[in-house]
Amino acid sequence: MVQHNVYLDDTYLTELDTEIVASDGLTWAAVRDNIFHPQGGGQPADRAWLGDQEVHPVKDHAGGLVVVEGAFAVGRPVRARVDRDLRLLHAALHTAGHLVEAAGRAQGWTMAAGNHFPGQARVEFDFVETAGARSLQEFVDRAIADDLKVAAELSDDGHRIVRLGDLHAAPCGGTHVGSLGDLASVRVTAVKARKGRTRVSYTATHAPSGTA
Ligand SMILES: [Zn+2]
Repeated sequence: MVQHNVYLDDTYLTELDTEIVASDGLTWAAVRDNIFHPQGGGQPADRAWLGDQEVHPVKDHAGGLVVVEGAFAVGRPVRARVDRDLRLLHAALHTAGHLVEAAGRAQGWTMAAGNHFPGQARVEFDFVETAGARSLQEFVDRAIADDLKVAAELSDDGHRIVRLGDLHAAPCGGTHVGSLGDLASVRVTAVKARKGRTRVSYTATHAPSGTA
């Protein structure tokens, strides 16, 4: 019983045929080739379907599988699909979060937390006295103009490390755009002191034609 988390390899594969590889036949099921990103790492879950039935992927931390609710028998063939526009928006916001983090680190800031949900995307740093949006925005714009490649690799101890060119590397289990040129309208919208931290709010979308 092995599940392959395809979403880690290909952000842009949003529909495929697979089969149920584990279930209790009644309340939960897991697919073999899994394109569903479960909520985690500050990134929301995909909007997902098995056949015509909408499902809500979650990580089952006890079993280590991404599972959905529903009565699906083991071995049953299923068509899995996610909302492509939402997937690309989530990937863009999340990748932009890495980029904003990199922009802060380049100024010597220490990241404390991140949230990449639509409408509330932000990266929080340990409080810094003089923090302005302009230098962050310039850093972000430069990296996007350079169209740095976004790549994931496994470290020697089995962690998935995501890199933005040579600019930034971080352990991460999220979905990312193919290269920073896939990002559109990344704007640092606010830099504010909040609860002992410096909060950088931002917006981002995916460029119209995604990597095929
Ligand atoms: Zn990531």
